[in-house]
Amino acid sequence: MKLVDFSEQSEWLQLRQAMGAADTGSFELHDPERHLSHQELKALAEQGLVIPASRLLLLKDRTLAHKNRRVWVRQTGVEYPQWHVSSCHEVDQWRHKNVDVLASISTQEPELADGKTSGICMACLAEMGYQGIDSRRIRRVDFAEQVKAEFSLAAFFSEYPPDWSV
Ligand SMILES: [Zn+2]
Repeated sequence: MKLVDFSEQSEWLQLRQAMGAADTGSFELHDPERHLSHQELKALAEQGLVIPASRLLLLKDRTLAHKNRRVWVRQTGVEYPQWHVSSCHEVDQWRHKNVDVLASISTQEPELADGKTSGICMACLAEMGYQGIDSRRIRRVDFAEQVKAEFSLAAFFSEYPPDWSV
């Protein structure tokens, strides 16, 4: 089937000029299976979005994504859950059992009542080799504690941007 080339029809050209549209531009179809809606994106950035863990994508760098955004996740219904950024054993279990998780792109670290954060999952960092971290090194308690104290979601997302599809 040959599509009509509207760019050569004078009525459309006039209409475009009247609208002040200098070029034809481009657009991408919104696929709700692969692209987040405006509301979903807003929820991810703010309070988080509860999704079934089976819907998480595992990216090539071993990080997690929900549709077109790289995310961190935590368990729901737990008072001070850890945050996970990769497919560690625990996240794998959630994916297999299809439990609900809270996905987020917020760089605001969740806080504990005493002001300390519940912390990043060390197994996730070892799984993805974050900053040279491996499963052998995280067994050293002092090393693990230092990494935990220094880890920031803002630094994580500047190295692994939420928009992984670009
Ligand atoms: Zn983890």
